Amino acid sequence: METLRGIIPTIPTETVEFIKTVPQKWKCDKCGVITGTLWRSSPVITNGHHRLLNGSNINGGLLTPSPSPLSTNCVHRFCGQCLDTIFIGIQTVGKCPLDSMTIYKKQMIESITNIDSILSQEVYCTHKGRGCRKTLLLSELENHLKSCLYGLVHCPLKCGQGVTIKSLPIHMATECPRRAVSCIYCEEDIVLESKNEHENQCPKKPVICSYCKNKSLLRADLKDHLEKCELKPRNCRLIPLGCKFSGTQTEVERHEKDWTAHMDIFVKHILQTGTITQDKPPRNRLADVVNIVKNLNAENAELMDRVNELSLKVEHLEETNRRLNDRLIKFETIQKADMASIRTVIELMRKELENFKIDYSRTREDDEESEV
Ligand SMILES: [Zn+2]
Ligand SMILES: [Zn+2]
Ligand SMILES: [Zn+2]
Ligand SMILES: [Zn+2]
Ligand SMILES: [Zn+2]
Ligand SMILES: [Zn+2]
Ligand SMILES: [Zn+2]
Repeated sequence: METLRGIIPTIPTETVEFIKTVPQKWKCDKCGVITGTLWRSSPVITNGHHRLLNGSNINGGLLTPSPSPLSTNCVHRFCGQCLDTIFIGIQTVGKCPLDSMTIYKKQMIESITNIDSILSQEVYCTHKGRGCRKTLLLSELENHLKSCLYGLVHCPLKCGQGVTIKSLPIHMATECPRRAVSCIYCEEDIVLESKNEHENQCPKKPVICSYCKNKSLLRADLKDHLEKCELKPRNCRLIPLGCKFSGTQTEVERHEKDWTAHMDIFVKHILQTGTITQDKPPRNRLADVVNIVKNLNAENAELMDRVNELSLKVEHLEETNRRLNDRLIKFETIQKADMASIRTVIELMRKELENFKIDYSRTREDDEESEV
């Protein structure tokens, strides 16, 4: 695998596998990158004298045999980035990182590689690792990559995975954790990823009542069922007063009817709610409770007397009412039967009155005459 920099116009850096080994002269000797422009120190040929003198100095003045004439300067090629690590900032002198020779910035010359000769090399598609078997000229790679089915794309269902274009349909249909599946209970489309979450809430999923073990329930109906479930434990309604009884509906109903079960609770409640002053010693409080019960009994007896009294009165009133009613009926009967005779009587009385008036006026006239 070789790294290309600035060779393919639209891809600044690309790693490609050449079919044939590429010449070393195309590569930076330090980092191995293949790039169009490399830098090297301009060649200076000496006869080795300089080297000899240096050598004698190092070896304490001993003369060593002179080597044959050779290049004494660094012959390595560097890419622009590596050059910047040799001459840092404004430095003009540096050392070759490969042979430690001193190199001078002003002596560095460009070594231009013909990019076309690089582009005409045969390479494997960069998606070889994902299955593309295509081999092509490096110059054709850019175009091929635009349509290579082994290139990665982001899954459109937003699962976050990179998927090859070739495997995208299979991924979306059978692999993607965000693909749509049908809920087996409500048959609605749901995202696979949230299947468990949905099923835990799906209103159409069958559930079992944990109390009566009824299995024919849907989740949506569970709430209503629990309100009616015979076997669901309930609390006694006197829980606010401290009764801790709980049981099935039937058990609680039976318990609530048994008032003796709550006697202690009532006594405690009376003591706590201040019906009796709190500062009295316990024995007095008990005495007070006994007194209250006695008073209640007395009150109860009084009330019973009063009830009896009122009952008698009611009975009496009912009797009176009955008698009045009888008389009313009798009167109505008489009234109807005698209406005709009453009319006759009235008529007679009217005539009688008439006669009386006449008699009376006659008598007065007689009296007046006698007075005169
Ligand atoms: Zn380099
Ligand atoms: Zn060197
Ligand atoms: Zn390809
Ligand atoms: Zn996906
Ligand atoms: Zn569902
Ligand atoms: Zn149930
Ligand atoms: Zn209770």
